[in-house]
Amino acid sequence: MPKSKESEDTSCSTEASSTELTSCNQENSSNKTSTAIEDFVQEEDSNNFGAFGFSEVLLKTLANKGYKEPTPIQKAAIPELMLGRDLVGQAQTGTGKTAAFALPIIEKLNKPGGPPQVLVLTPTRELAIQVAESFRSYAIDQPNLKILSVYGGADFRAQINSLKRGVAIVVGTPGRVMDHLRQGTINKTELNCLVLDEADEMLRMGFIDDVEWVLEQLPNERQMILFSATMPSEIRRISKQYLNEPAEITIKATKQKTNLIRQRHIIVQNSYKIDALKRVLEAISEEGVIIFTRTKAITITVAERLEASGYNVAVLNGDVPQNQRERTIERLRKGIIDILVATDVAARGLDVDRIGLVINFDMPFDKEAYIHRIGRTGRAGRSGEAILFANPRERSFISNLERAVGQPIEKMNIPDNETINKNRLLKLQKNLIKAATNGREHEEETLVLKTLIENIENELKIDQNDIALAAISLALGPSPLMIQEDEGWIKQANQRTYRNDRRDDRSRNRRRSSFDNVSTESNMERFRVEVGYRDKVKPGNLVGAIANETGLKGRMIGRIQIFESHSFIDLPKEMPKDIFNNLKRVKVMNRELQINRSV
Ligand code: AMP
Repeated sequence: MPKSKESEDTSCSTEASSTELTSCNQENSSNKTSTAIEDFVQEEDSNNFGAFGFSEVLLKTLANKGYKEPTPIQKAAIPELMLGRDLVGQAQTGTGKTAAFALPIIEKLNKPGGPPQVLVLTPTRELAIQVAESFRSYAIDQPNLKILSVYGGADFRAQINSLKRGVAIVVGTPGRVMDHLRQGTINKTELNCLVLDEADEMLRMGFIDDVEWVLEQLPNERQMILFSATMPSEIRRISKQYLNEPAEITIKATKQKTNLIRQRHIIVQNSYKIDALKRVLEAISEEGVIIFTRTKAITITVAERLEASGYNVAVLNGDVPQNQRERTIERLRKGIIDILVATDVAARGLDVDRIGLVINFDMPFDKEAYIHRIGRTGRAGRSGEAILFANPRERSFISNLERAVGQPIEKMNIPDNETINKNRLLKLQKNLIKAATNGREHEEETLVLKTLIENIENELKIDQNDIALAAISLALGPSPLMIQEDEGWIKQANQRTYRNDRRDDRSRNRRRSSFDNVSTESNMERFRVEVGYRDKVKPGNLVGAIANETGLKGRMIGRIQIFESHSFIDLPKEMPKDIFNNLKRVKVMNRELQINRSV
């Protein structure tokens, strides 16, 4: 967008790093301030959102959300965006980048509905939903402000109807946005701001042609904002070609604090994972637990099995509608449910203080996913525990994760009967102590109960210990307190781990892990899918579908060759069987992939 009057008045350089931008702003503001009191107010303001000139209503929303201070990316980006400048931001998820662009956008809207004024492009359906939800949460006190997410696979008609009624901000994936622009259902005449979120991911997923097509459609007078975790040359080119003297901000990814989290791993064969999981939950009693799985299908299987064992469980995956996801998180926060089984995408940004334990039921796809997963515990300065399940073939990944977190991920055995029984007793003891200390909520009943105990004592001629025992037994119900299950498989699994450990010690220095280099040829395997040119498939369609189903990042998907009726695609080796089977039925361009290993 051409620079506004205000920005022309500033003497800041147009291409500055984040620190330069900050000092630039301070310089300008210090020209205006003179007295010590004003300086003090200025300094106070720079710690909160008041300094950005936001409206009272937005400041109130932020206060209600508990946002006390802008994050570094917000401090650097918001003043620039409020001035109407274009902006290139290099920042990752978790830095607060969504609010960095969403807040100034909301503040600068001309009207709450009508033809769209803002278009945000995201690489995936999940991110589109998440970003739209963030916008909605920032506009919660402005109910007339309409925000819509549009993505493939969702009902076209409903999207068109919403657009007809008037939507100020549209967040969508490139393909669906193109469809709407082509058929005129997104009216582009009043679009004055475009955001490309996670631009590098769009590039990796093969959407960059589509993104450029969208860029070409937009009016010349517009503000453009580009966020990307990395800056490959293609993204730089786009930024040079389409952005007008953008402010450039780089926020280095800060190493997440994982040192408050005790991290352990268990080696277990896939077929015993659920049993091992139940044993871990029995042995470690934490109030809130998140279990991460790779696919939506596994979230359901795990949740069902746990529910059948009497646990209070909920599922969080891409199929769960957004409003229900929020309700689920709220229930977890309040302690109505104790265990959440989630996919990585669905649990993005999940922030609940009472999570004491994170279980990586399936190996995460990369280091970032692991760090994000375990970061769901140890919140608000508390300590937390993280346990990683790895099957014998995944053992080699563990040392790479250890390097990524700079901390050992200790070995742990599958808890045996003795460990579980000790914990059951301990838990019972804790609960009894709590009940004895707190007394009954309805105090008036205490006297009645005491009389009851005396009556039983007199009637049966037994002492109070026996009555206490009877009461505990009644509370416990008929199932035995101590488990005596067959432990053969546990001993076998734990011994196998021991044997493998010795072998690994010998080969540790020789072994090259595949985790860091997952994209190199030797770690990839070639697959054939039964979709080709005849179906008008493009690489982006394949990458998108596979990334959505498997959770693989676009960059982990290798070479793609498309032929008339089939295609070849390189994917990381050792794809789990369940993912492989699910992929077979995934439809791209209306045809099942029917994926097979290429021979
Ligand atoms: P993002 O990087 O946009 O995915 O944001 C990561 C998380 O940080 C989200 O859960 C936001 O709600 C939260 N967040 C963003 N800005 C702030 C802030 N200034 N203070 C507290 N939390 C924030």
